Amino acid sequence: MSEHKNKVDIGFINECESWRLHPRFFPSKVGGKPAWLNRKPPQPSTLQCIVCNEPLVFLCQIYAPIDDSEEAFHRTLFFFICKNGSCYKPNESNCIKVLRCQLKRDNEFYSHDPPLEDENAEFDDSKCPALCYICGCKGPNHCSKCKRINYCGKSHQVYHWKNGHRESCCNENPSESKDIQPKNNIIFPELELTIEEETEEKVTETSEEQELKYLNKLIAEEKAGCLNDASETELEQYANASVEDKTFLKFKKRIAREPDQVLRYNRGESPLWISSKPLISNEDIPNCKYCNGKRQFECQIMPQLLNYLDLEFGVSSIDWGILAVYTCANHCTDKEVPYKSEFIFKQDIDSNLASPSTSSKEN
Ligand SMILES: [Zn+2]
Ligand SMILES: [Zn+2]
Ligand SMILES: [Zn+2]
Ligand SMILES: [Zn+2]
Repeated sequence: MSEHKNKVDIGFINECESWRLHPRFFPSKVGGKPAWLNRKPPQPSTLQCIVCNEPLVFLCQIYAPIDDSEEAFHRTLFFFICKNGSCYKPNESNCIKVLRCQLKRDNEFYSHDPPLEDENAEFDDSKCPALCYICGCKGPNHCSKCKRINYCGKSHQVYHWKNGHRESCCNENPSESKDIQPKNNIIFPELELTIEEETEEKVTETSEEQELKYLNKLIAEEKAGCLNDASETELEQYANASVEDKTFLKFKKRIAREPDQVLRYNRGESPLWISSKPLISNEDIPNCKYCNGKRQFECQIMPQLLNYLDLEFGVSSIDWGILAVYTCANHCTDKEVPYKSEFIFKQDIDSNLASPSTSSKEN
């Protein structure tokens, strides 16, 4: 298969000092508040769950510049998800959103040269509007009493009121400060996302082809009537292994190289499917909303990321197999819309795959 030949970049989770995840370092990261690339973030209405209307929560961002594009010298993908587990339906990505943002090397927010690796370096962020105290998205509303704290909308304002602001609202020495990252249960834990090239497979491939050859041999033996009991069981297992199982087995085998991977990045290639259905072909991917150009596969978020989100019991129905992202192949720019919606496809693990082991336990 072609994907064995092509290089894939893999994302891993790391702990890191939070100052290193400041926007001026163009970070890739999970959780916390978005490190907006263009310092004019989108309107809160862009980041609302279309199922429950609650604000979506920042999941992660991937810094992915395009080498041969001047317009995308800096380029980041931002992912947002709904925290309401009941919004999640198998193979539907209604409550998940991905935004693409890019900048030229010379732009109004960052210097031409790479940033100094200095925690206290000055960064002029006067162009950035007030952000929501709770989630870090654009915060056009503010507390009507003290007018000090901004919010993306009612939901996070109410949350903050119930979780500390009622006490500190008109306090002379408020505990809230714009510079302190408040800990709250809305945002996910903040972690660094580091991206490295996938390692080569260590052992020589006991490939699918070899397995197939072996099983075909068994089938031939069966026809010849010389099958022993042991191979009969094996054959039965294989016969029961549907196309879905084979796709899932292939998925498991590939990620076994790097079991902790939370991201696979191979722009222009194809996803590593977790299930054989539903599949989408390139024709199913809607064209870019902004330039009407074709979209291409760019990367996929892996289910392992769920382990780092600190999901409490009760919201644990947040789930996915893979989140495959397709972005405009033109990397189009439009000054009016600095954050552009791209296409995301949530593929879930086939529910039948879990059943054989569970049912055998019950028997
Ligand atoms: Zn929702
Ligand atoms: Zn908010
Ligand atoms: Zn207040
Ligand atoms: Zn486009």
